[in-house]
Amino acid sequence: MVSSGAIQIPSRLPLLLTHEGVLLPGSTVRFSVDSPRNMHLVRERLLKGTSLKSTIIGVIPNTRDPEHDTDDLPTLHKIGTAGIAVQVVGSNWPKPHYTLLITGLCRFSVSSLLKERPFVLAEVKQLDQLERYTTPQRDATATDDGELGELSEKFYQAAVQLLGMLDMSVPVVAKFRRLLDSLPRETLPDVVASMIRTSNKEKLQVLDALSLEERFKKALPMLTRQIEGLKLLQKTRKMSPDNEKRVTDVLVRKGTVFPGRQFNLDEEDEDDDGDDTAALERKVHGANMPEAALKICLKELKRLKKMPQSMPEYALTRNYLDLMVELPWSKSTKDCLDIRAARTLLDNDHYAMDKLKRRVLEYLAVRQLKTSLKGPILCFVGPPGVGKTSVGRSIARTLGREFHRIALGGVCDQSDIRGHRRTYVGSMPGRIINGLKTVGVNNPVFLLDEVDKLGKSLQGDPAAALLEVLDPEQNHSFTDHYLNVAFDLSQVLFIATANTTATIPPALLDRMEVLEVPGYTQEEKVEIAHRHLIPNQLEQHGLTPQQLHIPQSTTPDIISRYTREAGVRSLERKIGAICRAVAVKVAEGHTLTKTETLTPENSKHECFAVCLFSDKAAPPELPIVIDHIALKDILGPPVFEMEVSERLTLPGVALGLAWTPLGGEIMFVEASRMEGEGQLTLTGQLGDVMKESAHLAISWLRANAKTYQLTNSESRYTSLHCLAGLCCVARPLQVGGIKDKVLAAHRAGVKRVILPKRNEKDLEELPANVRANLDFITATNLGEVLNASFDGGFPGVSGTRAHPQLTSKL
Ligand code: ADP
Repeated sequence: MVSSGAIQIPSRLPLLLTHEGVLLPGSTVRFSVDSPRNMHLVRERLLKGTSLKSTIIGVIPNTRDPEHDTDDLPTLHKIGTAGIAVQVVGSNWPKPHYTLLITGLCRFSVSSLLKERPFVLAEVKQLDQLERYTTPQRDATATDDGELGELSEKFYQAAVQLLGMLDMSVPVVAKFRRLLDSLPRETLPDVVASMIRTSNKEKLQVLDALSLEERFKKALPMLTRQIEGLKLLQKTRKMSPDNEKRVTDVLVRKGTVFPGRQFNLDEEDEDDDGDDTAALERKVHGANMPEAALKICLKELKRLKKMPQSMPEYALTRNYLDLMVELPWSKSTKDCLDIRAARTLLDNDHYAMDKLKRRVLEYLAVRQLKTSLKGPILCFVGPPGVGKTSVGRSIARTLGREFHRIALGGVCDQSDIRGHRRTYVGSMPGRIINGLKTVGVNNPVFLLDEVDKLGKSLQGDPAAALLEVLDPEQNHSFTDHYLNVAFDLSQVLFIATANTTATIPPALLDRMEVLEVPGYTQEEKVEIAHRHLIPNQLEQHGLTPQQLHIPQSTTPDIISRYTREAGVRSLERKIGAICRAVAVKVAEGHTLTKTETLTPENSKHECFAVCLFSDKAAPPELPIVIDHIALKDILGPPVFEMEVSERLTLPGVALGLAWTPLGGEIMFVEASRMEGEGQLTLTGQLGDVMKESAHLAISWLRANAKTYQLTNSESRYTSLHCLAGLCCVARPLQVGGIKDKVLAAHRAGVKRVILPKRNEKDLEELPANVRANLDFITATNLGEVLNASFDGGFPGVSGTRAHPQLTSKL
């Protein structure tokens, strides 16, 4: 039982399963962990926790499973040692792992497992009292005159004898001597058993010995054996002060450390490592790095040579040097820009987006003539899935350069860009340096994806770090904190992407040339699907056009009934889903049944529907053609139905157009009049602009009530509900995002769009077929808007006749 007032370990402990060794209370052991569960424990508990409690973990010797932790948890040893992690060192060499320095506190038993993933968490029961280690006065054995007292005295004497045979000038031996007297006797079996050479099995016996008496009994023979062994050694060898140190070495297990100090006297480490460091040194000289970097590397190499491998510093320094020799200090690809070939490649890779492609070619041509990269950074701004990343990739291909995407979404720590200083636990270089290591050349195309989603936090502003990366005046000497020496980024071609410019930090935006990439029309999407998406997806799923055919008549259905987006990403996914379903059929050799309800259209094309859930096994007739029925079978019932025309026939419903970073959106605005005090109630998710617009609209109606014959002796109450949408400007002032808004209206099957007169010029940017399919009315005042909204005009607006039954024309 744990007495009241005793230091207690938490009743729930994360468990570190290790087959590396046995941690006993009172000793400090270094564990190297690399299994998924243990790595999770380190990352999610030790590195994230801020309290002392969060550094306490349970160490369970994993004796039964020498392999790394498999999916199933092995049967756990029932007794473990709670320990405090005093040091965590992360390393990627030779593979990702952490080295933990853990000091054992006390034994515990596992009562029940609470969870197995991502790391093991267990309800535990504390078995040893912790004061024993802190208050020597309360020594249980000292007052015991019986067998326990005798045993403890014997053990102490044996330990003194052992120490007497060792060289006191070795600091660790001297420390052992000091501790021997200051520690309570009852802790000696644990401490001594962890210091002398004992096998893991023996240590486990000591761990499992719950009663003190048993513990002394188990550990004493081990201690005596050491003394006998040492006596023998001293007899057979002629001792000299030099090899006395060796004897200490024989006694003390490698890797075992005593509280706060490393207890490792092995010299072999350095010898083993000799070849390795020599190879590293050769690499350092061969890496073609600038003077400053070489100087640092040589200095670090010198330090490395002096360190024993088991020191945590060793792995850190080794990692650093490995990165330094891998970095492409002077490795680059040769640019092979041919503008004509670039044009062909861009055209082949991308349908439509003519304006963007033209600008990209101009950019490349200027780059070629100037043979320098100074100038604004191109930033593609548009909704998701419109091909921004894909154009970036094509630019790299046209230049014959490596391509690397750096996702910036959610990055809010400047060390993500610039790295951590090496003094940090688990320090790493930033994404720029990492990217260079990945591509292996110093002149890649870096796509800085989603610069509009950069965050900010207490850890510094990543935008400021990025600015340094992009600034041609500074980036030839970009200094990553981890590297701590300048790397020349001036040959890197940076391209950025964003959904909106509104949230790009102004200083960054200032460096960029924004190229808008608007959404696609239905017709463009059909073309993109047939020229690019379908062939790509077929290839990715190992299918051929001889096996799967999606006719031109089916694609518009996929686009309008299963997706509603400005780009083509969902469309690509839906095509992927079709490919997967068909791949299964082709692989299984399942039958195709001729559709029983052949429509005139598909019978004309001799279409077959895939009877996907048919049990009949017969080879499918190829190609499998996806008609409307097959489409429904695979993708389920349509997600979007045309609702615009139905809803607009209701009185009080109007259609607004909104711009969002994801493209244009249609938005229903419903107004209803009811009895009440004459206030306005707004419901739905409304932004400030929208609320202001609603109030403005009501004020306008009140001001113009007479003109429009809206007067009524009763007071009124108006409710305005706006369904999902961000912003809608009800005033005929110039508004933005016309192209995206009109495309959204076109997608939704709207026939007429009323827009402010001042936006007329924006219509020129619209694709010809959209312009042809829509009726545009421009207005300078609300009267004109109302007039255009109803068949036969709006009552009260001059020049129109009053109409008793108003019918919407939209
Ligand atoms: P973004 O970066 O704008 O979110 P992506 O570049 O990831 O979009 O594009 C999504 C997918 O759509 C990619 O497979 C891309 O090749 C394809 N795509 C987009 N636009 C076009 C286009 N105009 N022509 C051909 N494929 C396109």
